[in-house]
Amino acid sequence: VVQLSPAFRGVVGQGRSIGWLHRAIGAGAIAHAYIFEGPAGVGKHTTAKAFVKAIMCKASGCGHCHDCIRIERGTHADAFQIVPDGVTLGIEQIREIQHQVMLKPVEGSRKFFILDEAESMTTQAANAFLKTLEEPPPGVTFILVTSNVHAMLPTILSRAQRLSFNPIPPADVSALLQQRFGVDRDQAELATRVGSGVVGKALALGRGEGMERRKEILALAADLPVLDSLDLMSSVEGIASGIKKPLAEAKAARKKETQDSRETAVSSSHASFIARTLEQRAKREFAQRERQQFEDVLSTFESWFRDIMVTAEGVPELVMNLDRSEEIRRRSEYLTSEQAVGCIEAVERARRMIRRNVNPQLALEAMLFDMQECDKCSV
Ligand SMILES: [Zn+2]
Repeated sequence: VVQLSPAFRGVVGQGRSIGWLHRAIGAGAIAHAYIFEGPAGVGKHTTAKAFVKAIMCKASGCGHCHDCIRIERGTHADAFQIVPDGVTLGIEQIREIQHQVMLKPVEGSRKFFILDEAESMTTQAANAFLKTLEEPPPGVTFILVTSNVHAMLPTILSRAQRLSFNPIPPADVSALLQQRFGVDRDQAELATRVGSGVVGKALALGRGEGMERRKEILALAADLPVLDSLDLMSSVEGIASGIKKPLAEAKAARKKETQDSRETAVSSSHASFIARTLEQRAKREFAQRERQQFEDVLSTFESWFRDIMVTAEGVPELVMNLDRSEEIRRRSEYLTSEQAVGCIEAVERARRMIRRNVNPQLALEAMLFDMQECDKCSV
């Protein structure tokens, strides 16, 4: 058994990629460019940071030293995490990166650049970046993270080592929740089904996070036929502020946390590069987290009507919300599968609205009114 760097312990179900990176570190054969590709939510970015920690930390990625903490936060002077500034990663951002690439490392002998959503590089940006990959400066390593490798230039792919990250089988997620986190079996099965293969989500659910909101939403879905429009609007208001308030607090806390990046910057251009990448990252991350949470709310509603539909169709073993199967069975007796499908279509419309940047609260409200229309005729 190979003793893995502690940094990799937080990554789940990617043994092959991790073993490979681990051996590369052991052999001192760090490539100048990697592509980490695979579906969203399977640990690509987490592995990228773990890899950098395993190399830069004096204790191979202990997770709690000054280096590890700064790598985690993105404030390390020699380890940058770049996200697209907008819809695409443009030429200006690549030029900035190229400028930083030419400067010597501040603290050690290596520099890392993790580029998330690397597929969003514009053609112009990708061609500029290719020049850097063709003549890689010593000690610099790029990690290009993408969930859509087919959208990347073949010329870039051919100059990097490619690691594939696989979706994690539900049985593995459930086993992990039980063995490593001591979650009981029913709770683990439920979290795995509801988390639909995204390990982070299943872990959070397994620990009970998000379970309160889920309960609240399933109760709302069950009560839909009897709610008046005022009840409905105040429920939506409650859900929205339950999402936005904690995010606003986390955002303020993050701002404080990143102040220390100024201490390690070597020049004002270096300081402003770090500050800018952090700001772009925070902006994107919090917008994504908000959208994701609204999408989770939609998925919970969807799972309720989907469960009613499969029960009405005589396949109750496909029910996701195992803890509510009795209530779902009762509902399925007087809601037809056509009506359930109507409600699921309302979810799909709301999802499209949110993706088109419609205010999520409004999209949610519209969805519930639509559902009531479908649902009401059954009462
Ligand atoms: Zn460390």
